[in-house]
Amino acid sequence: MTSGQARHWRSAAEALAVLRREARVTRPQLGRDLGLDSGPMSDLVKRLSSAELICERRATSNRRGRPTTTVHAHPSGPVAVVVDIRHGDWRIGTCDLDGVVGVVATGRHDGTSPGRLLSQLRARVGDLIQTLDDRVAGIGVAVPGPTADSRLVHATMLGWHDLDVGRVAPNPDVPVIVGNDATMAAVAEARLHTPRPHTLLHVVVEVGVGGAFVVDGRPAPSAHGLHGEFGHLPFGDPDDRCPCGARGCWTVAFDAPAVARRAGLRAQPDPRAWLHRLYTDPDPSPDAHRTRTALAADLGRGIAGLVNALDPNLVTLGGLAAQLRDAESAGFERALHLGLMDVHRDRPPGFVAARSGEDAPLIGVGLSVFDSVLDAEMLARWATRGPVAT
Ligand SMILES: [Zn+2]
Repeated sequence: MTSGQARHWRSAAEALAVLRREARVTRPQLGRDLGLDSGPMSDLVKRLSSAELICERRATSNRRGRPTTTVHAHPSGPVAVVVDIRHGDWRIGTCDLDGVVGVVATGRHDGTSPGRLLSQLRARVGDLIQTLDDRVAGIGVAVPGPTADSRLVHATMLGWHDLDVGRVAPNPDVPVIVGNDATMAAVAEARLHTPRPHTLLHVVVEVGVGGAFVVDGRPAPSAHGLHGEFGHLPFGDPDDRCPCGARGCWTVAFDAPAVARRAGLRAQPDPRAWLHRLYTDPDPSPDAHRTRTALAADLGRGIAGLVNALDPNLVTLGGLAAQLRDAESAGFERALHLGLMDVHRDRPPGFVAARSGEDAPLIGVGLSVFDSVLDAEMLARWATRGPVAT
């Protein structure tokens, strides 16, 4: 590759990074983000289009009423094969360069051993890769627990420990990125807000508490990828033992059996659905109301602590967090207010309900695959690839 070609592909990689960080970017916005005037921008768009990396679509109009275009992934461009392993089921699909996900298969895994599940998923991933020929840039897997490199450290709800999730790759040459589902959802969430938050704190309440801290659209770096385990901060009862091995973890109080004990109720077989009903019940029993108020205060206090520690531009509430806040807003707001340092109380970050949906972990892990593999060298190889085998 000559130095001129290398420069061209470096600016192409930068343009595709903007596509990952910002949903539905317009051509003028892309030019502004890259610091390019319309001439060089036009050359770049031409080069990316003829390499089947991007395509343009006519947008209704820009703010001044002039016609403009939005920039999207090319329908024949590179994809990441993405997998989301959840508590009772899994989903497999593809993620384009601009974070558009297409789910192609789903299934349940209740009671299946993790080894058997990974074998089943490897076969499914292999089938999907076959249909995509040389378009696959890598594989991304979102998992319901902390990860270190390509390993799932533990999934407490499932009783899985130290699982090498990289085994879903049917071929060792295909790169695999494994990420905690809450962290991956935060990556997807960060691109849905305008202006784009430089730093985003995403807090998720499901059958526990999780979240992530995202900087410029990527998870904050850490030694092994074990960051963002906010649920294991010691904000809970110091006597409570958490399945992670620590005591006093914040997440323990939000677990369905713990919530049921606190409320004097019995948790139902589907804990997430039961908690959803509890947090949205317009007419809760006095015990349920008291428990909900205490949990909303726990949430507000914990978020205040995270804001004091991390100083985010924006806080997004994912999963059931926004429902819990809305159900008991006075208790939440009071605990949040009292827990914030004066400096944050005077100028608090934005607090909004998350906008990303069920596909967020798939989108986040797909974008993380491209973050990891897509550089000038990979794009130069892509542009000179041979005819696609049929
Ligand atoms: Zn813990």
